[in-house]
Amino acid sequence: MNLQDETNFILKKYGLRANKKLGQNFLINEEIINEIVKKADVQKNDVIIEIGPGLGSLTAMLLENAEKVIAIELDPNMSKILKERFSLYDNFELIENDVLKVNLQEIISEYESVKVVANLPYYITTPIIMKLLEDKLKLKSITVMVQKEVGERFCAKPNSKEYGAITISINYYTKPEVIIDVPKENFEPVPEVDSCVIKLDIRDVPPVNLKNEKEFFNLVKAGFSQRRKTINNSLASMGKTKEQVKNVLEKLNIDPKLRAENLTIEQFAEISNNI
Ligand code: SAM
Repeated sequence: MNLQDETNFILKKYGLRANKKLGQNFLINEEIINEIVKKADVQKNDVIIEIGPGLGSLTAMLLENAEKVIAIELDPNMSKILKERFSLYDNFELIENDVLKVNLQEIISEYESVKVVANLPYYITTPIIMKLLEDKLKLKSITVMVQKEVGERFCAKPNSKEYGAITISINYYTKPEVIIDVPKENFEPVPEVDSCVIKLDIRDVPPVNLKNEKEFFNLVKAGFSQRRKTINNSLASMGKTKEQVKNVLEKLNIDPKLRAENLTIEQFAEISNNI
């Protein structure tokens, strides 16, 4: 039985339908599952955190390749299936909760090599990733399926329309890369948009030195909140005098007519450290 038939068979057996509100689009291509596990570099000594295991298609492959899989699932219908399906695996642990409410720090504290691998529920992609990063969890990498458009924003380069405040945050904490393009036909039910798998390698140290992290992120946010504004005007609207802004940009050799989308993370850091 192929994965598409198996998915439909399990749903029918339990009298279930994919719950759209919970972002349930099940991956039905076994080759893509193999590729995710391979490119996530899952090793025998790794503990994998899987967010939203659903019916367990990716989970099954992770269990074969990792030391342990800790899966976090919100839907009790899915949890029931997972508990039955993996009852004989002693390296499977299920946390039946909302991933945004669990204390991940506590869950992973005893493990050395922890990686996140998941096909994420799309309605909360960014909150999940920001939680993983801002909590400064001791993770090695995050390999996740996301909407194509979101993946492109995370991995964008300056001077493009995809480049934004989220790009800067992602690059501050990780080295991001789109590793697999996944057309929408590889899911059941078929979603409206295409997807991609991204890999975020967690940085040991940030790419820039900051005097004040919070101020840096406030500056980035202010810069991108009105993308059409020049950096000159964005800074002025943050309560800096025209004189201050002029002096700093001159000192740093940054053209005041540039917009946030033209500035690199290094330039944002310089401005934040000097203003
Ligand atoms: N991993 C499965 C696969 O690839 O076929 C299912 C992926 S599906 C895109 C997303 C999964 O996340 C669903 O099983 C859904 O129930 C679960 N989910 C949705 N919101 C969640 C939350 N807040 N916390 C944990 N799991 C959640």
